[in-house]
Amino acid sequence: MKKLIIGNWKMALGYQQSLELAENLVLSQPPRPLLAEVVVCPSPVAISSVANILEGTAIFWGAQDAAEQTPGALTGETSLESLVELDCRFILLGHSERRQFFNETDAIINAKLRAVIERTTIKPVVCLGEDLATRQFGQAEEKVSRQLQAVLAGIILPADRELIIAYEPIWAIGTGQTSTPEQAQAMHQFIRQELEQLGYPNNRLLYGGSVKPDNAASLLAMPDIDGLLVGGASLTADSFWPIVFAQ
Ligand code: PEP
Repeated sequence: MKKLIIGNWKMALGYQQSLELAENLVLSQPPRPLLAEVVVCPSPVAISSVANILEGTAIFWGAQDAAEQTPGALTGETSLESLVELDCRFILLGHSERRQFFNETDAIINAKLRAVIERTTIKPVVCLGEDLATRQFGQAEEKVSRQLQAVLAGIILPADRELIIAYEPIWAIGTGQTSTPEQAQAMHQFIRQELEQLGYPNNRLLYGGSVKPDNAASLLAMPDIDGLLVGGASLTADSFWPIVFAQ
């Protein structure tokens, strides 16, 4: 299966900047066979216009979040139905910044995941990972296991759907401190075993946390790393394309 590389533009770019980046990506795509599946997740205001630019190219687009509720009186929220209209193919759920700054709990992420699976065909990318203190106490696997069980509680995944998990150790996000490929591989192997035990054999596992052009190849070489979720380095075509072509 192709590696999956997702760029998370967060709220880092304005509307015009998002369009410029999408145009730059299209114009600067290296003229070599693309071995990876490539996705960018702009902020919600820019998804529609970015989609117009990327339509017909090799780059897909997705969303960074959505409400679990059906459309209605929920000021400020984005519905899954509107993301379906925009042909979003992927959606990030439970990013650590949503957990940290918007109080998203595993229960909320579980409700969002259920809504995505029941009401759309968008591919969910569930983000999780431990903080530094938890790793230092030797409890990273325990923490990740608890997160997995909580976000997947009661979720029935139809046989034709896949579950994508992005393992993003919080201490590596935006810090410049990357998990070593071996550390990431060990956790991915653990997550894969847990998913199989929980009854989700159809899965893909992404690593995220300070991925850069110079560390992407060694991460992608690991057998249980099926792709990357890239934040800061997805904000310029100059750093994103080398990551996409790093294998
Ligand atoms: C992210 O936002 O998911 C992320 C991994 O960010 P960064 O690559 O900047 O660490």
